[in-house]
Amino acid sequence: MKQYETVIGLEVHVELATKTKIFCGCSTEFGGAPNTHTCPVCTGMPGSLPVLNRRVVEFAIRAGVACNCHIHQYCKFDRKNYFYPDNPQNYQISQLYLPICYDGAVEIETSGGKKTVRIHEMHMEEDAGKLIHDEWEDSSLVDFNRSGVPLIEIVSEPDMRSAEEVIAYLEKLRCTMQYLEVSDCKLQEGSMRADVNLSVREVGSDVYGTRTEMKNLNSFKAIARAIEGERERQIELLEEGKKVVQETRRWDDNKEASHAMRSKEDAKDYRYFPDPDLPPIHISDQWIREIREQLPELREAKRARYQEEYGLPAYDAGILTESRHLSNLFEETAVLSGNAKKTANWFMVEVLRLMKERGMEPDQVNFTPQHLADLLSMMEKKEISAQNARKVFEKIFGEDIEPVSYIEENGLKIVEDAGLLETTVARIVEDNPGPLSELLGGKEKVMGFFVGQIMRQMKGKANPDSVRAALNKEIEKRREG
Ligand code: ADP
Ligand code: MG
Ligand code: ZN
Repeated sequence: MKQYETVIGLEVHVELATKTKIFCGCSTEFGGAPNTHTCPVCTGMPGSLPVLNRRVVEFAIRAGVACNCHIHQYCKFDRKNYFYPDNPQNYQISQLYLPICYDGAVEIETSGGKKTVRIHEMHMEEDAGKLIHDEWEDSSLVDFNRSGVPLIEIVSEPDMRSAEEVIAYLEKLRCTMQYLEVSDCKLQEGSMRADVNLSVREVGSDVYGTRTEMKNLNSFKAIARAIEGERERQIELLEEGKKVVQETRRWDDNKEASHAMRSKEDAKDYRYFPDPDLPPIHISDQWIREIREQLPELREAKRARYQEEYGLPAYDAGILTESRHLSNLFEETAVLSGNAKKTANWFMVEVLRLMKERGMEPDQVNFTPQHLADLLSMMEKKEISAQNARKVFEKIFGEDIEPVSYIEENGLKIVEDAGLLETTVARIVEDNPGPLSELLGGKEKVMGFFVGQIMRQMKGKANPDSVRAALNKEIEKRREG
């Protein structure tokens, strides 16, 4: 068989995190009772007129600048005409001729090293409503809450060659948009959606093959499986001497197969024309400069800083910066505890463990940084054992309890009671003549046995250093006596 190369370009829709919709004042909040976040504009009522939300333009510029795009400072909206029941105007307001951002690039990293993926353009557009197919009633309902929610569509050049590169690219976009606070990019809620354009060609060829476009991909895993499936389907066709037909296909992740949805439509099919209801936008140099200057520290910079400033290993710095939310939690805790290294270790071990156990995303982790900082400082002062600290942290992680009073109230605080410790040590040594004689005979390992017994008796209310000291004193007494 010939050797084939996969060629992939993505069209990624990102829902912008503005409070209101792109052309009206309705809420963009996800969910809500059907058709409650609506008005005449976003339900396409005759006579209603769109008014552009300035924030949408700002967010689009922010996204574009962060992805090294040029900005069309004179830019316009166009109507993309098509009928579909979730599209009440019978056209979507989008951009064709002068997309707000163009010619950008992002860097991705895979097992094969670093690579640049070029961005053809990013344009602004409005989202459609949602159809709910009620099989029971044999009818379809439409919810316009999502109609008019602002989107940017990010179109890449066909620069990716594998599922791994595609996932790395999507993760890069998601992370960047989240850091920019432009979108929360939740695949499950549809605030990030990717269409995969894929073709194959013989290795060494410098012309692209015919591509198909796959829709309906709502997880990174589904995307990876769809890429694998489509690559195989196309290679099989070519091997049989057949042609790949340019079309849109729907991936069915349960069947792990795709089927043709419609033949590929072209721009001309949509009869695009400039939207006469919206004046062109002029974007000043000043505005772009301001946005550029206010860009937050992005992941790469943060990661490098963690390594340098906190002396963290590259791996840890990478994990801690994957989500801006988690990195904020970490940084605030680190500042409050005054010990970044210890805080980082706690995140890498305890926070990650609990996240994994509870199947949580980094963005779902939520506790007051001061609470963890207080717990870490009590550990530092040996006021709580490491074992109990882990238990208390589970309470902070789950219910955000206040650790100082919690530890006090639940009797977890190590209160050094020298008298109690002395009598406990003496009793345990007395009760274990066998191990004692081994210890006196020079078997140092038996120390561990005694420390364990005593700690258990003290119910975590003694710290190991004092136990050892008291034990040594007792053993010395016995040696002499
Ligand atoms: P259209 O305007 O018909 O949607 P575009 O040229 O804008 O087509 O491309 C849409 C997407 O398809 C882009 O992400 C692009 O990178 C990708 N693409 C274009 N040609 C190919 C190809 N031969 N193989 C894979 N992807 C491709
Ligand atoms: Mg397209
Ligand atoms: Zn509205």
